[in-house]
Amino acid sequence: MVDINEGVIKFNTKEHFQTNALEPNEYRTLESWREKLWDIKLIGSYCPSNIGYGNLSVKVDYSDILQTSEPQFLITGTQTGHKKNLDGNDYVRVLNFDQENFSVTSSGPCSPSSETPSHFSLYKAKSDINAIFHVHDNIIWKYLSENHDLATPADVEYGTPEMAKQFLNLDLPDKGIIVMKGHEDGFLSYAKNMEEAGELLLEIYNKLNR
Ligand SMILES: [Zn+2]
Repeated sequence: MVDINEGVIKFNTKEHFQTNALEPNEYRTLESWREKLWDIKLIGSYCPSNIGYGNLSVKVDYSDILQTSEPQFLITGTQTGHKKNLDGNDYVRVLNFDQENFSVTSSGPCSPSSETPSHFSLYKAKSDINAIFHVHDNIIWKYLSENHDLATPADVEYGTPEMAKQFLNLDLPDKGIIVMKGHEDGFLSYAKNMEEAGELLLEIYNKLNR
């Protein structure tokens, strides 16, 4: 079953290890970038539906919790877009993703973002990517949809197995922005670190919105 509503979790939860709030040192840097992007509404929530958008992740080695050869990362929790600041209750660790069954193994105080499969697939598509920032903006999305080569097709919805496969078809430079043509307002930046991923978004924002 595929639900087109933003924010609705489409993947299966294979296993979730419930924990207390994460410690600030685990999410502090990601949170500082999130706040910058929230301030310019690249992360936020739609009116009047109040459905949140935007999710950020950074690759982390969680092999002390679960051993796997797959990418592991810290990601913002589901339905957090409306909050200006997140705390240790709003971040969660993705320990594994089973592509065959489209199911996530996670550990933390909340459920991971509905777009977790897209993050996983992009990390898997290019192993030196360490940060992925997925945001929404109508002006930038329209511009990128018409002018930007790095794109997933209009008939591919976000968070679906098809979207996950699309990243493998892209010829990915070391860092960049990918526009998701089938996910209205949605695009993402990726890079070898959070700083570069964040700067890419601020750059395009300043170019078009100011
Ligand atoms: Zn989105």
